[in-house]
Amino acid sequence: MTTPAETPLPFLGGYPEQLLAPVRLALAEGTLGEHLQRRYPEAHGIRSDTLLYEHAAALKQRHLRHAGPLAKVVFDNRLQLDHRALGTLTTVSRVQGGNLKSKREIRISAVFKQAPAQMLEMILVHELAHLKEREHDKAFYGLCQHMLADYHQLEFDTRLYLTWLAAQRPASVSQTPPASALPAEPEPSGPGPAR
Ligand SMILES: [Zn+2]
Repeated sequence: MTTPAETPLPFLGGYPEQLLAPVRLALAEGTLGEHLQRRYPEAHGIRSDTLLYEHAAALKQRHLRHAGPLAKVVFDNRLQLDHRALGTLTTVSRVQGGNLKSKREIRISAVFKQAPAQMLEMILVHELAHLKEREHDKAFYGLCQHMLADYHQLEFDTRLYLTWLAAQRPASVSQTPPASALPAEPEPSGPGPAR
């Protein structure tokens, strides 16, 4: 059995140890799930790709009206906990009638179908912000916070939720997930520029 201090926390890389120690303790004591349930009691009813698209389009209309069209927003079963990204924004380029057409698509891990409402909101805001800001820099996080005032707390708590989820389903997660197994890292697309 691993002692709390040895518990790997792949979703929480980069956070200071003073924040992580209580997480290890809560995992060891089995109280992390209750903590999250108390803090985020609200589920969401967004179960289909159609509803997800409508929700994302409404957010985009409110905050990023001029960011260019979004062709698709879908839940993706292939984005699992051991995947390096749990949300992606990709640009798919195709030549059509001599013109290069670009379509931007957001994929959200199906893990978020069952997640608390605010966590789905967090990952949607993250991917939508990439429509304007490619890098995870100050401008990017400023935009995220503009769309969702609690963004930073929600990102941390979403990482807690993913940590808890991985602890419930150890078989679905590789022994040593890559350090970059973050919930919201964009994934380079195949053809055309990433994101
Ligand atoms: Zn990102």
